Parts: sequence; C-alpha cells; structure tokens
Amino acid sequence: MGFFSHTEKLPGNWPSRFHHKCTSKKCTYPNSPQAAEGRYVCLGKVNGSPCKGTYEVSPSDAKAAAGWISREVEREAEQSKKLMAHLQEARRRKDDEHLQLYQNELATYKRVLQADAEGDIRFIRQYIRDIDSVALFEPERWHTHLIHLREEVLRLQRLVRELQLKTMNT
Ligand SMILES: [Zn+2]
Repeated sequence: MGFFSHTEKLPGNWPSRFHHKCTSKKCTYPNSPQAAEGRYVCLGKVNGSPCKGTYEVSPSDAKAAAGWISREVEREAEQSKKLMAHLQEARRRKDDEHLQLYQNELATYKRVLQADAEGDIRFIRQYIRDIDSVALFEPERWHTHLIHLREEVLRLQRLVRELQLKTMNT
C-alpha cells in the first residue's frame, strides 16, 4: 500500500497525502514521503515493538513526493526568510527607540551644562529639584551632579554614534 487515494479517508492527524501507510492494519504510523521508488520497512511501533509492516513506493509516488519535498523546502525557506526580516525590523525599531531616548537625554543634559557655563543658577536649581530635591539646599552637592552629567554626556554621545553607525549599515 502506498499513498492514500483521494477518495480514501485519511486518519485525522495524517501529515500529508504523500506520507505512507504501511501494510499493517493496526499501525497508524505516517512514514515520511520518499523520493525514491522501492519497498520500505515501516518505522512505526505497534504495542511498543517495531512494526513489521512495509510500504511500497511506486515511481509515480516517488516523483510526486520529490515535488512535495522541494515545495516543503521552499516553503520553509520562505518562512524563515520572513521571520528573519521580521526580527531585523523589530531590532531596527528598538534601535530607533533607543536613539531617540539617548538624543532626548543628551539634549537635556547639554542644556543643564550650558546653564552651568552661563551661570544660570535658576535653571540649575530647577534641574536639581527634579532629580534630587534634598540636594537643593546643599549647593556643594550640585557639583557632584554636574560632574556626573559630563560623564553621562560622553557616554550618551558614544551610544548615539554607535547606533547611528549601526543603522547606516543595515
Ligand atoms: Zn507500520
């Protein structure tokens, strides 16, 4: 016995009409499509022991299976291509989000440092109140925050440059 014919009813979970049912009535193992004609031993198990059934692959079965196999291979390649494109798009979107975030932070920090350079105490007070309200009344601690800001600006500039290079290459 080879393929099920179109008129026969396939078992509910039969993978495809190109899978082979063996000669054993008790066995429901779907043997993989074969692209070469011949007689094959069933790979199924009946009551825990290897099935003794066989199945015949005719030249036309083999030809049809070869077509099915290459279509499956194509379909899988197409699917994995789609998945890769999807992942790449998700990664690119995440990079864009990070870039936007870094650039916003960078703009804020630069504004604070500029205010410091210009002696704009009001602006700095506002910034300190937002990030560390306790330090508002201890101006000697503002200095620590400003040093930290300078380091942050360097770090963010490096991250922005890296992301910009990355998006240029993709
Ligand atoms: Zn079998």
